[in-house]
Amino acid sequence: MLGLMQSQPLLISGLIEFAERHHGDAEIVSRRVEGDIHRYTYRDSARRARQVANALDSLNLAFGDRVATLAWNGYRHFELYFGVSGSGRVLHTINPRLHLDQIAWITKHAEDQVLCFDLSFLPLVQAVHSRCSSIKHYIAMCDEAAMPKDSGVPNLISYESWIAARPATYAWPNFDENTASSMCYTSGTTGNPKAALYSHRSTTLHAYAAALPDVMCISARDAILPVVPMFHVNAWGIPYSASLTGAKLVFPGPAMDGKSIYELLEAEKVTYAAGVPTVWQMLLTHVKANGLKFSHLKRTVIGGSACPPAMIRAFNDDYGVEVLHAWGMTEMSPLGTLCTLKNKHDTLSDDEKMKIRLKQGRAIYGVDMKIVGETGKELPWDGKTYGDLLVRGPWIVREYFKNEGGDPLVYDKAGAGWFPTGDVGTIDEDGYLQITDRSKDVIKSGGEWISSIDIENIAVAHPAVAMAACIGVAHPKWDERPIVAVVKRPGMDVSAAELIQFYEGKSAKWQIPDDVVFVDAIPLGATGKILKNRLREMLKDYVLPIG
Ligand code: AMP
Repeated sequence: MLGLMQSQPLLISGLIEFAERHHGDAEIVSRRVEGDIHRYTYRDSARRARQVANALDSLNLAFGDRVATLAWNGYRHFELYFGVSGSGRVLHTINPRLHLDQIAWITKHAEDQVLCFDLSFLPLVQAVHSRCSSIKHYIAMCDEAAMPKDSGVPNLISYESWIAARPATYAWPNFDENTASSMCYTSGTTGNPKAALYSHRSTTLHAYAAALPDVMCISARDAILPVVPMFHVNAWGIPYSASLTGAKLVFPGPAMDGKSIYELLEAEKVTYAAGVPTVWQMLLTHVKANGLKFSHLKRTVIGGSACPPAMIRAFNDDYGVEVLHAWGMTEMSPLGTLCTLKNKHDTLSDDEKMKIRLKQGRAIYGVDMKIVGETGKELPWDGKTYGDLLVRGPWIVREYFKNEGGDPLVYDKAGAGWFPTGDVGTIDEDGYLQITDRSKDVIKSGGEWISSIDIENIAVAHPAVAMAACIGVAHPKWDERPIVAVVKRPGMDVSAAELIQFYEGKSAKWQIPDDVVFVDAIPLGATGKILKNRLREMLKDYVLPIG
């Protein structure tokens, strides 16, 4: 017997319609590429999203056609999120930090028809357009007055004139909620990038889940600043969750430095921000150096790579800002776990609470996870046994776009398909996940595993260390031993011996790195993550001192 409830597809257009109707006057504030601050409301945004949909129709784009963006976090990008997906096309957010060859390759692979870009990316578009054969229309996200002269980019039009001529009414089409809505290529370090192809259903369910109190806790009382870029996994779904709840949105545009972010947090009374650890490091450095405080910021979600305990403590103890450590990946839309405490933890001491909060957190309803050993057998949740982390759920990829790379899933005895995350971790009795490493980065020393994340976390807690990255190097007796590459803070000094000494008492003796290598910079990838492969290459002539 079927239930007798209305079946209304979960569509992205429904989110912006809801925001317009119920939170029409809630603000969306953006620092523009032009440098000024732009402010308008969800009502204005919904109207312009409909103009975008009409403008796409005028280009004769078919249902399912891909529309690419090369853009920062801002209101025009936000309108494209809804105008493109809402009208049945697929939004392809391109990471501008990728290599030109990769950008050319993915626009062709995605068969993008249109490319909308912020003017700061004009040089990039000029350099790459001749290799993007599928793109027929180029839209500069600016008004007519700001249009570049003689850009050399074919069929270039300004976003403002493109949409201004279109009606502000549009009947959002109704279609199957499993229809593709947006896509994001993974920042894979080997082989060609692969795309996660999200659906209206997966995006809407993820938006609901992300807003839950034990997840990102987003409400109509919040003012949210997503520093996490809209070109990386839909800014962790924040544009959708904000529309679903009516939260004020504050977009930082291209200015991601500590000073600019701090100014926006204060001026717009931001209660809530989200980003990767490298960005927050810049913010903390600025705040500390200038003796500042946060007047409104209450919470910040930090994820994308392991958040160093020293950062969680600094936010918590020095500034009274709660850090929510999150783990996820492009293939998971991206949220998998978030670290919030349970009722039974109320009576714990601050130190004990902190120990839990340093972990990556508990699974969100909608994400099923398990750790398995080499044979695929599920391992116990004891907080000690580590294994390969597998996940499944309605916002986790089943396969990549165009079935690139074949079937990614591993199947259990019951035939259920699980996505192998490539991460290694432990899960404790209460279901808290702790990521030990990427499986390819874990250091195997004498048959035991050493977590490179643990080693990095200790190093960055030293006051003279700005950044640290740990890799394994070959060792005749132990197979591999860890060494740590360190960037010193400007004007501060520490010797290798002092830093090794710093590990005493903080880690098991055999897990202490054998050496410290000081470097000017640690190679970072397009999403701000440490590129261990590149670091290994950089240190290929390094010889381990064997004592
Ligand atoms: P991406 O798909 O580029 O977002 O990368 C996903 C990967 O980032 C995950 O598989 C993890 O290896 C890593 N990652 C994300 N969040 C965390 C976290 N909180 N702690 C440790 N690693 C993380």
